[in-house]
Amino acid sequence: MVGGGIIGLASAYYLAKDGWKVTVVDRGDFTDNCSYGNAGMIVPSHFTSLAAPGIVTQGIKWLFDSRSPFLLKPSPSLSMISWGLKFMQHANERHVTRSAPHILALNNHSKNCYDDLATELGNVFGLEHRGILMLCKTEKVFEEEVHLAEKGRALGLDVDILNREQTQALEPDVQLDVFGATHVRDDAHLHPPALMALLLQRLNQLGVTLASHTEVTDFVRHGGKITKVLTHVGEYSADVVVLTGGAWLGQLAKKAGITIPMMPGKGYSFMTPAFEGKVKHPALLLEARVALTPMGGRVRIGGTMELAPINHRINRKRVEGIVHAIPRYYPEYKLPVPDEKNIWHGFRPCSPDGLPYLGRSKSIANLIVAGGMGMMGLSLGPAAGKIVSEVARQEQPSSEIRLFDPERFH
Ligand SMILES: Cc1cc2nc3c(=O)[nH]c(=O)nc-3n(C[C@H](O)[C@H](O)[C@H](O)COP(=O)(O)OP(=O)(O)OC[C@H]3O[C@@H](n4cnc5c(N)ncnc54)[C@H](O)[C@@H]3O)c2cc1C
Repeated sequence: MVGGGIIGLASAYYLAKDGWKVTVVDRGDFTDNCSYGNAGMIVPSHFTSLAAPGIVTQGIKWLFDSRSPFLLKPSPSLSMISWGLKFMQHANERHVTRSAPHILALNNHSKNCYDDLATELGNVFGLEHRGILMLCKTEKVFEEEVHLAEKGRALGLDVDILNREQTQALEPDVQLDVFGATHVRDDAHLHPPALMALLLQRLNQLGVTLASHTEVTDFVRHGGKITKVLTHVGEYSADVVVLTGGAWLGQLAKKAGITIPMMPGKGYSFMTPAFEGKVKHPALLLEARVALTPMGGRVRIGGTMELAPINHRINRKRVEGIVHAIPRYYPEYKLPVPDEKNIWHGFRPCSPDGLPYLGRSKSIANLIVAGGMGMMGLSLGPAAGKIVSEVARQEQPSSEIRLFDPERFH
């Protein structure tokens, strides 16, 4: 397994339970990836891929606002241009309609896996089924959201449509300033660092080797298979190699000999004690594209999507954009902009068509790929891990993965 984020750890968990001898190799320390500071939302509601109609026009408008939730940093790199063209090709209704049932099925499957994990390992990772409130400030966005809710209902989602008073009634302890909301009751949330710690602990118990500070630098292939995984401290050989490298999946795939277009989507988050346990539901502040999640007695606030080559700079303007959005929805909470040391950032692994890469490589017989889950990697983690174990056993996957072929852009 190359990469120890949620997808790598979940895959290792199901593979080890099946009796495989598993090694997870990560160049970090297993706590410094995208799977820690995210908003912890489990999102059957996100059945629309990132590449959706209107996103290109909206993205261009946002380009001219330094505090906007979206940034596409133009770069002369060929891979970025090629990714952008593929993204635009997929930002249409046909693609969204075709992929929606598949994304929803994978998310629902994963939610069930989370319930099973809570039963098997104990729910010490804050799994709660309160749904997510999609808060709308404006009538226009509310109408769009109602339209989406109706689509969701047609696909089997449990969604309530709420006016201002009904929304307020769900959050009696804080003042809300919204036009209305939808409440996707099928969504859930959890505490990502607690989940990751639990999985690491369980993997240790299952005898999985966790090789930290070990960067995979190359692969040796022979006879249509990977025969060696080279790292800067030594080499490994394996019957099956699983790539779960998050935003770095594209670079790893290239070294392995296949093409996987990938763009990092940087986002920020921070924890705040400000809401003193008064917020009951996770919420997406839709116009601002900000997420707010009750987590371990505090609240995590996160947002922005900076599509640009990987860099670790904290863009304070973007963070200000997140912080300033809060009192527009929760007028009692004018929060200070956090110090840089308290701002977490991570890189969402974004595929150009907004769909995961999940399955066995067609050109390298012992290679399995799991990643590219963009804004919903935490949500999809356990289902992805379970499917990796099924694919490794050459079994029929427990959810349809036809559209998620890792080599669909080859
Ligand atoms: C602000 C924000 C909020 C989010 N909120 C949500 C949410 O509410 N719900 C949701 O479902 N998702 C959310 N996400 C997205 C989610 O966090 C990601 O999709 C998910 O964490 C990706 O997991 P991963 O395992 O693919 O990648 P990662 O967690 O990034 O793990 C990849 C690992 O691969 C390792 N690696 C890379 N290259 C190499 C190499 N050459 N050698 C060895 N190791 C290597 C890295 O060190 C890393 O540990 C959010 C993301 C952000 C930024």
